[in-house]
Amino acid sequence: MPAAPTPATAKSGPARALEKLGLQRDIDLALHLPLRWEDETRLVPLAQARAGETVQVQGVVRETRIESRGRRQLIVQLQDGQGGQDGRHTLVLRFLHFYATQQKAWAPGALLRVRGELRDGFFGREMVHPTVRVVTDDTPLPQALTPVYPASAQLPQAYLRKAVTSGLRRADLGELLPPAWLPKGLPALREALQFLHQPPVGAPLAALEQRQHPAWQRIKFDELLAQQLSQAMARAERAHLRAPVMQAVDGGLPQRLRQALPWALTPAQDRVVAEIVADLGRDQPMHRLLQGDVGAGKTVVAALAAATAIDAGWQCALMAPTELLAEQHFRKLVQWLEPLGIVTAWLTGSRRGKARREQLAAVAEGRAMLIVGTQAMIQDGVAFAKLGLAIVDEQHRFGVAQRLALRQAQGGIEPHLLMMTATPIPRTLAMTYYADLDVSTIDELPPGRTPIVTKVFADNRRPEVVARIRDEVAAGKQVYWVCPLVEESESVDLKNATDTHAELAAALPGATVGLLHGRMAAADKAATMAEFSAGRTAVLVATTVIEVGVDVPNASLMVIEHAERFGLAQLHQLRGRVGRGAVASACVLIYTAPLADTGKARLRAMAETTDGFEIARRDLDIRGPGEFLGARQSGDALLRFADLAEDDALLQAARALAPRLLQEQPDAARAHVARWLGARSEFLKA
Ligand code: ADP
Ligand code: MG
Repeated sequence: MPAAPTPATAKSGPARALEKLGLQRDIDLALHLPLRWEDETRLVPLAQARAGETVQVQGVVRETRIESRGRRQLIVQLQDGQGGQDGRHTLVLRFLHFYATQQKAWAPGALLRVRGELRDGFFGREMVHPTVRVVTDDTPLPQALTPVYPASAQLPQAYLRKAVTSGLRRADLGELLPPAWLPKGLPALREALQFLHQPPVGAPLAALEQRQHPAWQRIKFDELLAQQLSQAMARAERAHLRAPVMQAVDGGLPQRLRQALPWALTPAQDRVVAEIVADLGRDQPMHRLLQGDVGAGKTVVAALAAATAIDAGWQCALMAPTELLAEQHFRKLVQWLEPLGIVTAWLTGSRRGKARREQLAAVAEGRAMLIVGTQAMIQDGVAFAKLGLAIVDEQHRFGVAQRLALRQAQGGIEPHLLMMTATPIPRTLAMTYYADLDVSTIDELPPGRTPIVTKVFADNRRPEVVARIRDEVAAGKQVYWVCPLVEESESVDLKNATDTHAELAAALPGATVGLLHGRMAAADKAATMAEFSAGRTAVLVATTVIEVGVDVPNASLMVIEHAERFGLAQLHQLRGRVGRGAVASACVLIYTAPLADTGKARLRAMAETTDGFEIARRDLDIRGPGEFLGARQSGDALLRFADLAEDDALLQAARALAPRLLQEQPDAARAHVARWLGARSEFLKA
């Protein structure tokens, strides 16, 4: 028996590395599944092996020498037992890195079992850096395929194999689910794990590697079920929390706000407002995601939610990811709500000293009823008198901890939580990752918008773009020109933006060209933005600090330089900065050749559709769900095995089973979640 590593006590390098990979418990090790397998169960006669194949062969060393012409290397000449000395029975092994001990062990006469990719070399067939074992005639062949695990530099494969083997042996793998409730044809968990860790000789490698084998299906089903269960449990837990009941009254603030608006809500806005208001009227905290494409009109929905809370005597806090966005929300909300007599406060990192103290006092004493700001509002020293509603804009840009902090219970009362996103999440993803969220979707744009026309240009057509800008400006329209910002080379990118600014200023005499970038002080950014909003700046050259939410209806042209460097969601967000009024708008994507395939696919998607949900679907296709969510949900649990694009049937089955299991066998449900998520299940509550 191999010595069983005990990660909890042994603190060797590999043991620490195990912990880092989250492999603490036996069950964690048992659920650490191979990436792929190597077939070491068979020896292939050299004469039958073909170049390009990865094979295991066995042979006697004829010669060992160090080659020192060119790059120094160890050459071992091997001959397999079955035939003569001709090329079909000999093999050259090459090692660019080697130890003297290896040279000694692989001396002429030794019998070696080697595994590697066979190549046709100049001097005959060869393998470069094969794995090598010195064997005897009766060294047995393994009876199972050899698993290759996701490992790390500090965690050698051999150590990991031993750890997993002993974890698998010790873990409690008893069935927690009634077998009759499982989808048909799935093996027991123990059987499935055994099979995946040690597939028997002759197991179908292709089905294994494509993760379609029934053993995989069982694992994926269990994983999806754990996730559905944990989210349902988080939801049930929230049901025990008490939140303020906010009843809408006739002639109240929300009604007066609606009457003051210059336009009527769209039916979609009406519907989501009704959903939110219904939540606010209950004594359980709302946990709702409001999604709507860029320009769909989420801000007014947030304002109506805020008005409902304030009318009922509760404070409302709105948190935005950047100062610029917070500022813009603030201006809009102030414009709408202050005429109705609502006192507002403004809390961001740049507001310090006396001004900040005054705002804090207004918040703590309950004089300020609407508080808008960045995450500075959840940092030290901010106490709300009676927070009843927290609204988080672009929620995916905040970490779990920040969202939790904003929700912090206030004297046994938990505020309602409304999250907003302009990056729509495809339905299957939403069902899996946000199973414990209620989702409201604004699925239509306000009327009178002219669709945005998108053009993709190579950068040698820049002069045409500049000419187009001149036309727009002459017609009294405004233009954004976005340059990418790559963190590692901020100064280079800043130079790009500055150069472009100078170039456009020279090409457009008589027009005001502004410059907005991340290194500017917050006050300067706000001033520059205000100039543009007021129409005093015709062209705004900006790094992506204008990314989300900025709203200037007179802007009709968006130029994005080095568009290939942006992600699809980001491009869509940027494009959404134009086409916000009735003016016909366009977006020009300038790229620099050569384009990688993914870059090409992103630009094509942008040219072909303006529908945010379609864009999100294509983004998912191009990137795969892991990364899709990884980019926006870092810190949240991700699926390790199931693939939402392929495992929809399993997801549906897990979704159907979760409520039944919770209802009829709650202990089994809890044990299943603990088995899969262990300590990580805490995360899912956020
Ligand atoms: P987003 O959902 O991207 O945050 P905004 O709330 O900024 O969108 O709204 C985009 C623009 O549409 C704003 O100028 C806003 O005033 C306007 N708007 C919102 N709702 C309507 C409506 N029902 N009718 C007309 N214009 C609207
Ligand atoms: Mg917005």
